[in-house]
Amino acid sequence: MKGLPSYYSQQIQIRSKIIHKIKYTITNYERKGVSIFKSKNTVSSDIFGRLLKSDALFIDREAMRPTYVPGALLHRGKEINDLASVLVVALRGETPSNVFIYGKTGTGKTAVTKFVGKELLKKGKETDKNINFVYINCEIVDTQYRLLQNITNHFINEWSERIPFTGWPTDEVYSKLRQLVDKDGGVTVIILDEVDKLKGDEALYNLSRINNYLKKAKVSMVGISNDLKFTEFLDPRVKSSLGEENMIFPPYDAGELRDILKQRVDIALKPDSIDDDVVPLCSALAAQEHGDARRALDLLRISAELAERSESPKITKRFVRLAQNKIEIDRIIEVVRTLPTQSKQILLAILLQERHDNKTGGTGAITTGEVYEIYKDLCKKTRTDALTQRRVADLISELDMLGIITARVISKGRYGRTREIKMSSSSNDIMNILREDEVFKELTNYKIRGQTRLI
Ligand code: ADP
Ligand code: MG
Repeated sequence: MKGLPSYYSQQIQIRSKIIHKIKYTITNYERKGVSIFKSKNTVSSDIFGRLLKSDALFIDREAMRPTYVPGALLHRGKEINDLASVLVVALRGETPSNVFIYGKTGTGKTAVTKFVGKELLKKGKETDKNINFVYINCEIVDTQYRLLQNITNHFINEWSERIPFTGWPTDEVYSKLRQLVDKDGGVTVIILDEVDKLKGDEALYNLSRINNYLKKAKVSMVGISNDLKFTEFLDPRVKSSLGEENMIFPPYDAGELRDILKQRVDIALKPDSIDDDVVPLCSALAAQEHGDARRALDLLRISAELAERSESPKITKRFVRLAQNKIEIDRIIEVVRTLPTQSKQILLAILLQERHDNKTGGTGAITTGEVYEIYKDLCKKTRTDALTQRRVADLISELDMLGIITARVISKGRYGRTREIKMSSSSNDIMNILREDEVFKELTNYKIRGQTRLI
């Protein structure tokens, strides 16, 4: 009986320690801006105050966006000069040669071309020369009709007279274009960015011959692409016309990327809002890929956004690592979204096996045989024909190549070889993407029967 009070007091002491610990953790979290007991839909007061404060890192957020073209482009002096030397004849009223620009993504092709175009227009105004600069992104405007319609509308001010998205015979749009360009009478430079995305080469053929039909006006084209093979498949006449001049944009090295980022940091961020080692890290990571300035800027921007979201007063290396993860997960999500159904079904089988292993404390390494058993079951449920195990193994290799899973071949001695499959990034995110697909919505709750380990 004597022990009872001391037992109780011990219990009370333990409980009060636990309560103290919980209270401490909560205040700690809340200090970091993490709400524990509020549901996601609860909005704390002074939301605008908080949001305003969160602008602590930026001076000019726009300058971090991918579409922003800075006033001065670093390390592209040669490319700017080369392009300008071709286009300068426009200022003398002559037709510039057509140019084909090739370079990998993020090597500054779009930025340089827009920059030179802006300068050309400026000089045209100053010297009273009639110059038109028409920029078209063929990833968006990707058919002959849309392309001709877009260029023609450049010469029509009145909205009501503009050519509609569809409806006109293409020939008529082309003849309207010739008529309006000639009426304008100046020199027109048409930029066809991402020209490889254009469907068919009829439009390029027609545009490359337009000068034959013009009396006064002059037209030249600048085609831009990151696909060197693109020109191989063009009509030879278009190929020789578009490639009167060729330019190649080399990738940036880490040092050049560092300067580009530094320039952006100075415009976009408040002083002291970024650690000194962040820019070198972003540059080194992007240089490892292929000297892609867009990748470097994305890393920097996302690091800044993540730092801002967690209300950190500074962008540190930790946020660059988080940004890198986020970019990778976003890429994988895009790839998963566009996978064919059979591959999705295989991926789902892997995810289900992984979930099962996690629950039952399994090895964490999944074999092709296990995946195949679940896959076959899923096929029954979705009423699709199951592929052979060999074909499924091929698709598993494909998922590996896409970076969604890692599949390491291991030897099982005299039992032959199998593969150890692991998810390479966030399984929950990928499961959610699969859930978007009507076919898989129900199946994501599928429970694995039995525990047979097959090779
Ligand atoms: P590409 O068209 O070759 O894919 P972009 O011209 O779109 O590449 O460049 C990608 C990003 O990097 C853009 O945000 C651009 O403003 C920036 N950028 C590229 N080159 C430079 C440079 N030399 N100086 C400053 N910013 C640059
Ligand atoms: Mg581009």
